[in-house]
Amino acid sequence: MADLVLAGGRVLTPDGVLDPGWVSVTGGRIDAVGAGPRPDALVDLAGNWLVPGFVDVHCHGGGGRAFTGHDPALAIAAHRRHGTTTTMASLVSRPIPELARQIRELSELVRGGDIAGIHLEGPYLSAARCGAHDPRVLRPPDLDSVRTLLAAGGDTIKMITIAPELEGAVAATKLLVDNGVLVAIGHTDAAEAQVLPAVDAGASVATHLFNGMRPLHHREPGPVGALLDDERVSVELICDLVHLHPTAVRLAAHHAGPSRTLLITDAMAAAGMGDGVYDLGGLEVTVQDGVPTLAGGSLAGSTLTMDQAFRNFVQQCGLSMAEAVAATAGRPAQLLGLADEVGAVAVGLLADFVVLNQDLRVVDVYRRGHREDRS
Ligand SMILES: [Zn+2]
Repeated sequence: MADLVLAGGRVLTPDGVLDPGWVSVTGGRIDAVGAGPRPDALVDLAGNWLVPGFVDVHCHGGGGRAFTGHDPALAIAAHRRHGTTTTMASLVSRPIPELARQIRELSELVRGGDIAGIHLEGPYLSAARCGAHDPRVLRPPDLDSVRTLLAAGGDTIKMITIAPELEGAVAATKLLVDNGVLVAIGHTDAAEAQVLPAVDAGASVATHLFNGMRPLHHREPGPVGALLDDERVSVELICDLVHLHPTAVRLAAHHAGPSRTLLITDAMAAAGMGDGVYDLGGLEVTVQDGVPTLAGGSLAGSTLTMDQAFRNFVQQCGLSMAEAVAATAGRPAQLLGLADEVGAVAVGLLADFVVLNQDLRVVDVYRRGHREDRS
């Protein structure tokens, strides 16, 4: 006897849509998936979509909290209400000793299963493309400091963003990849010729493609052209329609395809909250009409949630439901090495689901087979 049977909806599986389809859950995992009616259903999906819980590999906070502040659980909960059932905690650039302390604190949450890992966005970034990172703390990726950060995190650091033009970037990339850490290229002013050695050394992700990097030029493709065109690289897109025009999203997603496209939030504390003044790694950020900016006007992360990114991707950028599922769940789960646990509606995986209505708004969120309280 299953703990939970959801039926009567459009279930998006890796093999296609089951309409109507059903999912059966025992002990927090999916034990069967099928097509047709289930008279014994415990939950009627009422024609809604059932998609896998979202996996966000780049998120700084939400619900009024950064992951570095007190009570990071509020940030996790804010995004969970919007369908994110697996999240990375991203840290902005800080001096090495402060980052090491933040990493040690967050490592507890990784070991407890509340977050899937830590992403260090810096401090090895280009001052010319620093965005909302404090330029005073940026530095080249010397191996000593890289080792200090790795030691602070044990195996909880899953991704580090590096500008490949900085001195030592290739050696640092090799060290990190050898330690099982994903190296992402971002906040960079590199020319294409400076990007390729880092990819050859194992860098495999583009941190928010287009944003915080030298733009594409037809005579100097720079990081955008190099990363988007390289089959070894998965590209993050901030699909809030503020950071990227829908045409830029569509161009990138079509070129990279479902096997290389990831939607991220890059959300800061204000995600899931109202407008106001917030702190981002020591910098004051003003949120107006949902858009966070620094005093100079530079964008400072987003207030995006994964359900909104999903909706924008389908409704405003013209991608399919299957492509949206791949970009919000399947591909990020694979990238994190979690594809046998999360990222799809498939037998054996954890019962992490989002129920979306016809307008792709969240109706319900299930994590480990438990319905989240979204009130
Ligand atoms: Zn960034």
